[in-house]
Amino acid sequence: MSLVLPPTRENMTRAADRLRGGGLVAFATETVYGLGANALDPQAVAGIFELKGRPLFDPLIVHVAGIEPARQLSRAWSELAEKLAKKFWPGPLTLVLPRQEIVPDLVTAGLPNVALRWPSHPVAQQLLTMAGCPIAAPSANRFASISPTSAADVAMELRDPDLWILDGGSCQHGLESTVISLVNERPVVLRLGSVAVEELEAELGPIAVANRSVNESELQSGLASPGHLSRHYSPRTPLCWSTEFGSGEEVHAGERVGLLCFGSVEIPNAHQFAAIENLSPHGDPREAATRLYAALRQLDHAKLDRIVAWPLPSVGLGRAINDRLQRASH
Ligand code: AMP
Ligand code: MG
Repeated sequence: MSLVLPPTRENMTRAADRLRGGGLVAFATETVYGLGANALDPQAVAGIFELKGRPLFDPLIVHVAGIEPARQLSRAWSELAEKLAKKFWPGPLTLVLPRQEIVPDLVTAGLPNVALRWPSHPVAQQLLTMAGCPIAAPSANRFASISPTSAADVAMELRDPDLWILDGGSCQHGLESTVISLVNERPVVLRLGSVAVEELEAELGPIAVANRSVNESELQSGLASPGHLSRHYSPRTPLCWSTEFGSGEEVHAGERVGLLCFGSVEIPNAHQFAAIENLSPHGDPREAATRLYAALRQLDHAKLDRIVAWPLPSVGLGRAINDRLQRASH
């Protein structure tokens, strides 16, 4: 089992040393747990891809300790970048910008751009400050699996006896960061996440959201932007997601089916389900985001034949959650 460390000063110092020395450290952020390596050390970064089983064409987000360190990694820090960073950092927004040469190819998957984020979680912030280097960190799960929102989830996912995990409790948002590209004249949301599109639009006016479902071959051929794999965030149990609320829930005799739902809904055939997880009985999308991955894990461990997931109202965070459920479906 991995080593789960409470974030004492001594443990933070040891973890920062380990990172600087080229090792991997998993740590809490306000979105999900990250698997970190020194972003400027390609060999260390290679360890992330290896442990996650992540394909090399999927670039990593680089975490920084403030706006100034972010500026140093970008060749063209724009006025727009400054505006968004001032408004949303530290926090769950990732900015994609032209990269400086010092950012290794492995981190950006050979792209001329780098994804940057200043996280707000105190454990992430202290680690960044103490390590004194930018930290490349994707979610600390096996590729395409469910993102971890607690130290125990990370240990279960990665099962590496050499891995250190800095325990910062359960994640406040529970959903990945929103990724916005500022590379072209018009900003584009590349990934829906913890900052709702509406919050960005309040700052920028109407913005485009990139075409979302691509497959691995399109990515490898370079025809699509990375990180939009149609299969992602998946439990092992088949998940059926339908765009229509309340549909697809027919349960056959002898079948063990779990239901993932939201809000104060009437479930007419509730007794037919072997397990029901309501992401937020009061209908609060923030609470739903926080509970999403834990609920998926719970259902995944309930020895079910399949999971049926009902969509949330497609506004604000509901839209980002629906995006995850759609990708989690088989
Ligand atoms: P994660 O799996 O949470 O580490 O998120 C990584 C995601 O961030 C990728 O899958 C992309 O969607 C996005 N990303 C990271 N780096 C870049 C980049 N250089 N250009 C475009 N998107 C990026
Ligand atoms: Mg991930």
